[in-house]
Formats: sequence, structure tokens, C-alpha cells
Amino acid sequence: MVMLLYLDNPYLKDFTATVQKIEENVIFLDRTAFYPGGGGQPYDTGRIEFNGTSSSVIKVNRDDFGHVIDGELPSLGEKIKGFINWERRYAIMRTHTAVHVISGVAYNQFGVTITGNQLYEGRARVDLSFENLTRDTVENIIEESNKVINKNLPVKAYYLSKEEFMQRPELMRVNPKLYEKYDKIRVVEIEGFDAQADGGTHVKSLREIGKIVLEKYESKGRKNKRIYVRVENEP
Ligand SMILES: [Zn+2]
Repeated sequence: MVMLLYLDNPYLKDFTATVQKIEENVIFLDRTAFYPGGGGQPYDTGRIEFNGTSSSVIKVNRDDFGHVIDGELPSLGEKIKGFINWERRYAIMRTHTAVHVISGVAYNQFGVTITGNQLYEGRARVDLSFENLTRDTVENIIEESNKVINKNLPVKAYYLSKEEFMQRPELMRVNPKLYEKYDKIRVVEIEGFDAQADGGTHVKSLREIGKIVLEKYESKGRKNKRIYVRVENEP
């Protein structure tokens, strides 16, 4: 099984690994810092270096952690050096943590549930559900989220056993059935503010997010609203 280096160190930009298997233009490694996609967070892109050659990693497969290569392929058993497209990944990390802040504020202060989200580089789509959710409420949620960011709370990840996890229903923001196949569940916590089951990469303190800006508000009916937000660096 591949060792997922980003789980313990989301700031890892490069790493060394050994090629375990090759299928056409897909290589499998013993360890990787490339995020394979999931939970609304897109897969990483980047490149690998080996034997004086550099090839692009254009996709990472979520189901089997295969790295899809564009360019020359390394040989089986060869050592490679992997490089994450860090600028893109860091923007995604800031956005991911920003969505957790929004989710925490919406849930704790307004009783609004987030029903889905998709992260992009510095941008996110967030679906919210609540009776008679107005644009004013959404603007309030974003304003309160920025206040939380300014508290610069630390963000940490830890594991709970399935038994411990099942006793804390507030950690399950999506379908509880999704967690049944795991023995231990990773929790991402914005200290003392919001905790939820999560396998993605996050910044280590809230101020790294910058500022959340509401870009677009769409009503999808009385209960369901879709918003687009972006994160901006504070001047
Ligand atoms: Zn998340």
C-alpha cells in the first residue's frame, strides 16, 4: 500500500519514491505527496524527475493512487523525485480550510448545512441548505467567517477509532455510511471551533487563508443556495 505523505505533512512539496508498478502511462509508487482527489478537493499535478529526465504528472487516480504521466516513463524499481505543483496546491489548501470555516460558522451560528462543495485553485463552490436562506444571511456567514479567520486559530489533524467517531455525530457532515469501511477516521479540527471527518490537506493556521470574498450567489429554490467564494491574500 502506498504511503500517503500529505496526510502527516501537507506542506511537503517534494519527495523521493520508488516505482512499484507501471501500467501504460500510469506509475505506482511506494510513497507519494500527491493528493489523489476526493472530498471536493481536486488531485494534485506536478512532475517527476529521474535519470536526468523530467515528466509531468497530469493526474492522480483516486481509486488506486496511480500517477498519470505525460512524457518519458521511469523504469520499474527506479527511484524518482516527485514535485507537487505547489502554487496550485497551496491555493487549494487555503480554499479547503476556508470552506471548513464557512461550514463551521454556517452550522454553529446559523444552523445552515453545507450539502456539497467543490474546490478549485483559490476558489470554491459551496451548496447550502436552510429554510428561507437569504442573500443577507449568506453575506453574514461570510462576514463571520472572516472574523474567525482573524482569530488565527491552529488547524490540526488526528485519528479516532470507529467507535470513538460514531459517538460524535457532529463530525459527520456527509452520509455516515461513507465511514463504515474505515477502522480509524481522520478528523480535521480548527481548534475549539469546528471538527469534521476529512482526508484532505489544510493550512496549519487560519490566517494563511487571507480573506474570503463572496463572488456569486445563486438561488436554487427556497431551501437550496449555491455560492462561489474566493480567497484573497491580505495586503
Ligand atoms: Zn474538507
